[in-house]
Parts: sequence; C-alpha cells; structure tokens
Amino acid sequence: MEKTDELEMNVQYVKGVGPKKAELLNKLGIYQVKDLLEYYPRSYEDRTKLKKIEDFCDGESTLFIGTICEPVKVQKIRRNLVIISTVVRDETGTVKMTWYNQAYIKTRLEEGNAYLFYGKAIKERYRFAMESSLIYSVEDLDKIQGIYPIYPLTAGITQNYLFKLIRDMYDKNILVKEIFPDMFRKKYGLPEVNFAMRNIHFPKDFRVIEEARNRIIFEELFLFQLALVNMKNHRVKKTKAKPYHEVDLNPFLELLPFELTGAQKKVVEEIKNDLTSTKLMSRLVQGDVGSGKTMVAALAMYMAVKNGYQVAMMAPTTILAMQHYDELSVYFEKLGIHVGIITSSTTKKNKNILVEKLKNHELDIVIGTHSLIEDPIEFSCLGMVITDEQHRFGVKQRMKLAGKGNDVETLVMTATPIPRTLAIILYGDLDLSIIDEMPPGRRPVITGVRDESNEEKINHFLKSQIEEGRQIYVVCPLVEENEELNLNSVEVLFEKYKNELFKEYQVEFLHGKMKNKEKDEIMQRFKNNEIQILISTTVIEVGISVSNATVMVIENADRFGLAALHQLRGRVGRGKYQSYCILKSSNKSVTARERLKIMEKSNSGFEIAQKDLELRGPGDFFGIRQSGMPEFKLANLLSDVTILKKSQDAVNEIIAQDSELEKAENQLIKEALYQKFGEQLENIQA
Ligand code: ADP
Ligand code: MG
Repeated sequence: MEKTDELEMNVQYVKGVGPKKAELLNKLGIYQVKDLLEYYPRSYEDRTKLKKIEDFCDGESTLFIGTICEPVKVQKIRRNLVIISTVVRDETGTVKMTWYNQAYIKTRLEEGNAYLFYGKAIKERYRFAMESSLIYSVEDLDKIQGIYPIYPLTAGITQNYLFKLIRDMYDKNILVKEIFPDMFRKKYGLPEVNFAMRNIHFPKDFRVIEEARNRIIFEELFLFQLALVNMKNHRVKKTKAKPYHEVDLNPFLELLPFELTGAQKKVVEEIKNDLTSTKLMSRLVQGDVGSGKTMVAALAMYMAVKNGYQVAMMAPTTILAMQHYDELSVYFEKLGIHVGIITSSTTKKNKNILVEKLKNHELDIVIGTHSLIEDPIEFSCLGMVITDEQHRFGVKQRMKLAGKGNDVETLVMTATPIPRTLAIILYGDLDLSIIDEMPPGRRPVITGVRDESNEEKINHFLKSQIEEGRQIYVVCPLVEENEELNLNSVEVLFEKYKNELFKEYQVEFLHGKMKNKEKDEIMQRFKNNEIQILISTTVIEVGISVSNATVMVIENADRFGLAALHQLRGRVGRGKYQSYCILKSSNKSVTARERLKIMEKSNSGFEIAQKDLELRGPGDFFGIRQSGMPEFKLANLLSDVTILKKSQDAVNEIIAQDSELEKAENQLIKEALYQKFGEQLENIQA
C-alpha cells in the first residue's frame, strides 16, 4: 500500500504542476509530494448548510438555491470594468447579485432557472446583496455541499488549484507511513495517520477535524520531545574532579560604582552553588536587555580565576567583544587579573603574542569572537566558557570551545526572553537562571507606532533631538530595494536621509554585507558622535551600547518579530537621557497593528514574548534558523499543552522500555526521528 517513492517525488512532476508552478509551490515550502500532503489548511469554510434567504446573516459566506427573477444586465462602466447584475429569489426573499468583469456569466444564467450560489451575504438597506458568488447547477448540490479547506497561498497559486492538487493525491491513494505501533495508538487514542491527514484536508464534519489535528500534533510534539530526551542523554551532566573553593567577591564588588540588584545577587549565588558543587555547571542566564548580565558573568569569571583557572568569553560580533573587553578589563586589571581580546581584526603579530600568553597562563581571561574556536588557540588550564547571546552560536561551537579544557564549566547568556515553561522544554539540560529586575533609575523608552501620515512630524522630532546633541538609529529590514515587498532598504533610505532630509548632519549606513573592518570603523565613529544618524539593518541588534543615542526609528516595523523589535529598542535608553522608539508601519491589517501596539504598552521582554507567542506561535518568534527550534506544521507549544503532556508521557514510556529505540516495533519511530532531527542529534554527539 505504501508508495514511498511517490512521496519523495519532486512536486514538479505531479500532473498539472510543471517547472513554473513548482517554483511557486517551493515558496510555500512544498518540494515533494509528501510536503503537499502535509500542507495543512489554515482554516475551513462551512458549505454544509443550505440556507433560505430570510435566514442570511450579514457578512457570512452562504450556500443557497435561488431562481433568476430579472433579466441579467451587463453594464460597461469603463474599458476595464464590466458589471453583471441580476436579482434572484426563493420563497422567502430576494438577493441582489453582482459580478465584475465576468461577461460570460450572462450566457450561463437564464431568467426563470434555479441555480446553486455560494458567496458572502452583505446586508444592504432593503435586502441582502452578494458579490462575485460561485455558481453551480442545482444537481451538483451533493458534490458541492461540505467543509472546504482554506490554504495559505502565494501569488499565482489559488485555493482551487491547491485543493485539486491535494485531492488528486488522495484519489491516487498515496499514503504515508504510520510510525506508531497499533497497541501504542490504542493506548493513546490516536487514529491512523492517513485517516487523520485525509480528514484534515477533506473533513466530513468539524468533530473529525479536531480528532485529526490532535493526531498530527501529537506526532509532531512526540518526535520533538524524543529528540530532546536523546540530546539530553548524550550530554549528561558530568562530575568534575575538583569543586571550586568559595571566593570572597568583595574586592571586585567594591570597585563597582553601583550595588548589584537583588536579581543579580540571586543569580550569582546560583552560579556559586554550581561551581562549589561536584557537578559541572551548565547554566543559562536569561535577562532582558540592560538587566546587567555582563556583571554577573564577570563575577563568575572572578570565581574561576581565583580558583586558578582561565576563562574564555565568546561574543557574536567584534564590536560586542570589544565592548565587554572595555567594560571588564578596567576592573580586572585593578585586581591584577590579565585580560586579552582576540577578534578577526586582531593583527597576526598580536594574535601570536596572545596565543603564547594563553598557553603559558600569562593571561587569565580572553574575550573574543568565533576566532577563539580556531585551532592555534590553546589554554594552559581553561576552566570556564561563557557565551553571550547564545542563539547566535550553535551548540557545536560552544562545545568545541569547551573541548579546549578538561571539566569546563559553561555559562550561557541570552536576552531572548523565553517564557519559563518553554525554556524548560527547550533547554531541558541547562539549569535556568533569570534576571528579572532592572538596575534602578532606568527610564522606560517611550514607544509609538506611526504610519506614513506622521512622516513630517517624525523628521521634525529627529532634528530637535540632534540639535540637543543626541544621536539616532534608523533600522530597516533589507539591504537592497525589493520592489515586490516595497520595503525601505538601507541604501534607499540612506539616500533619502542624507540628500533630502538631513543634509546638514553626518549620516552613515551599516549592513551585514559590509566587511567587518568597515563596520567596526563606522560603529566607532558613531560612538564618538562623529555620526548623528546611523542607518542600518539588524546587524546592530545585539548588545551595542551608545548611551548618547536616544532615538530608535524602525522602518516597516511590522516585518519584524516582537522579540527582534524589543532587542532593537534595547539599543536606546542606555544613558541618562529620555529615549524614544518610533515604529513605522503602513500595514493597515488589524492584527499587525495590534501586535505593534504591544510594544507601546510593555517594556518587559518576557511580557512581550508571551504575547507574541500567543499571537504568532513560537516558530515565527524565534526565527527558526537562528535557534534551531523546529518548525511545527500544526502544533503550538503554548496552546497545545494538553497534547504536549500526553506526548511527554508517551516519550517517557517508550524511553523506559527501549531507550535506544532498538525494538523492531519502534524502528519507524526511530527513522522518523532521524529524518526530522538527524542534523541536530549528530551535532550534539560530535
Ligand atoms: P545586558 O548585557 O544584560 O544587556 P549589561 O550587562 O550590558 O546588560 O548592563 C547594562 C548597563 O547597566 C551597563 O552599563 C552596566 O554597567 C550597568 N549595570 C549593570 N548592573 C548594574 C546595577 N546593579 N546597577 C546599575 N547599573 C548596572
Ligand atoms: Mg549584554
């Protein structure tokens, strides 16, 4: 029955597709026949009920039978506008029907005959009206009546086209593999997979949709959790040879111009407990932008150094590495602790010197970028690895750095505000610390969502800020003009700001395709206030600190996830001046505006993350590629908690009986697991 070859066939060769349509389908993530079957509807249209005209509801899509009771009129309004209209009736009332530019309809409809119509009923003053309805013959009622899937589309692909394509696959009886053994399905009340998939596309009633969705979601969450358990088992917490002795932190704390917040103290304590125990530390520190994670990391470093170890701290960009170095080396040097920095812009000569010093333990701490992972770098006794903004690094990179020492303690810092419940699922193997308190005296950034009608006011405001001596970031989504999406690109914006709006000031731009050296140079000039307006892509997203910059303007703000917007906003409000974030968007959709409005109301990354997750689901929120989060086709980690729990039980049961998935009946599960998560699993084991 199973036709695996057909499942993996390129969609291009499906009847009715071909190279051009295939390209469009690829845009929807459909490459193989299997993807087509798994292309699930976004919602459904109810065409089950046949209504009488007197029962119509305003705005509701409705199926009804009506008789043409007036001559069909064709009016040519303009060269490209033809209106076809008539009135239809049943025994309870009449409806005014209108179609646009479909002149052939006149030949289809005959006065006095009855037809089946489907369209959206709109209440007008005296009666209902319907525009562009579908027309069928009354004999087809049985065929037409039903629940219709609504698929997410792209230009050039219609509902009808996708519907027919997927319908064809099912008519040809193409089946996927059922991975769960019968007993297992019985126990967890799961229908057979092909039954579930077919009913998601072509349900007979709404109850069966629910059952079918639950089945598919169960499988998605089951495999995801099985993958996590697998990863965890492959990096069990190791015991170390020698626990740290407790370190007096006062010499360091006395140098600080401020006192640690309660939250910082709590997290430092958690780190101390890890280090002085016999288990190796692997801890994730989460804290909103500006919550003071770097200081916490510094204290962890101090404990390691005072125990005789070296520490490596890895940041995602040169600028960030330099920032950490500038901030921390001042304190450490006063305490006689030696700090070095290695980035891609370190000269070969200096690098050689640093490499030598690390090997001889003349350096206690090294801060750097990816360059730290490179081969020539060796340590005398590396005892701790700290990575900042972890979603920029793969697990593999972190482990490679840790591999340069024995018994290396790891600390990971992130500003990505993941709700706790989700963090426990995602980072099950890392212990979690949260800095949930801001240093005192911070003024929240004033945020406003604005559309193009506010343009002049905004520019006026920007000028007044510059006149007061402040600086401005302008962020936009893409590097090159993209006509199709009509986004303001860096280069176009740069022209506009530099040559039209702000001629009298220094305007520069920054984007990811520039060389590191160029980027660093521009950032440095911005830091020195030699540049007033910096136009940029999201390359400035992470961690950069220029306390004189007080305005963050974000163009096409609706194109960004809220988490990204929050990160960007965190670039201002870092000094003593009141700061502002202006979210520009001309998107009129209610949900898009509602989303952006969340930014006006909240300055808490956690709150924003929670709301964003509820609105969009985790896939969008994390930016799938960055985080290694799987993209679920149907599951939502927040709303499908019940199924999540059930599938977790199932995972625990299967692991208890067959931890390596060696039993014959579990082979299909194992296969599916590796097909979906193979890459991640191998990364972990490497
Ligand atoms: P994060 O990395 O969490 O975004 P940082 O560590 O860069 O935040 O801290 C932001 C700023 O706040 C830095 O200038 C830092 O010196 C300062 N800071 C850190 N902790 C405190 C504190 N307890 N009180 C006052 N300022 C602090
Ligand atoms: Mg930071």
